[in-house]
Amino acid sequence: MPTTSADPFTQGLDYLYKVRSLALEPDMVHLVDDLTHRIPVCIWIGKHIEAVNAQLSACLQACRDCFHPWDQPAIQIFAAPLAQSFGIDALCNLRTYPTTILVDVGRIMTKDWLLVVAHEYAHAYVGSAGHHQQFARSLSHLCLGLGIATPLCSPANEESLRFYPHCSPTSDPLAFWRGEDRDWEGYAANAHFFLPSID
Ligand SMILES: [Zn+2]
Repeated sequence: MPTTSADPFTQGLDYLYKVRSLALEPDMVHLVDDLTHRIPVCIWIGKHIEAVNAQLSACLQACRDCFHPWDQPAIQIFAAPLAQSFGIDALCNLRTYPTTILVDVGRIMTKDWLLVVAHEYAHAYVGSAGHHQQFARSLSHLCLGLGIATPLCSPANEESLRFYPHCSPTSDPLAFWRGEDRDWEGYAANAHFFLPSID
């Protein structure tokens, strides 16, 4: 997000509108319309979202590095608070260019951000939202490169692939977005230490 002279709340609200336009449907980023809860969240976003997105970009780059340079689709990644009613931690929007990955970093423990990015990257790589064999191969390739246990790739396994790799959920997704997640601050201070070293 370009730095402007706008106050943090306005910057945060602008950011929410931006990620809403990149979601599969606008209602997925419902906080824009939640006049009660959006104020502290927008202010926190305005102050901290660049640092959060830098962490996600590092995860994205780690996934990219698992493939040859000519075999890396154009992908952008952003953190976004996703509506609880959709029950998803992240999404891959193949209708945008570049392909967009949105991650609700409030719903997943910081140590598992790379895992959820790898899952969405596998969708972006095959260009499909399905959890079929092609997706399984893409995800397995990423898991090997990132040092994550590979999934079982049998045709009967599509349902488990939907939730692979397993990510630890947080108890209160909005707590992160209100700035109450001290865990994340530790990771941010030690930039990238949770990423595997890739040769
Ligand atoms: Zn999936």
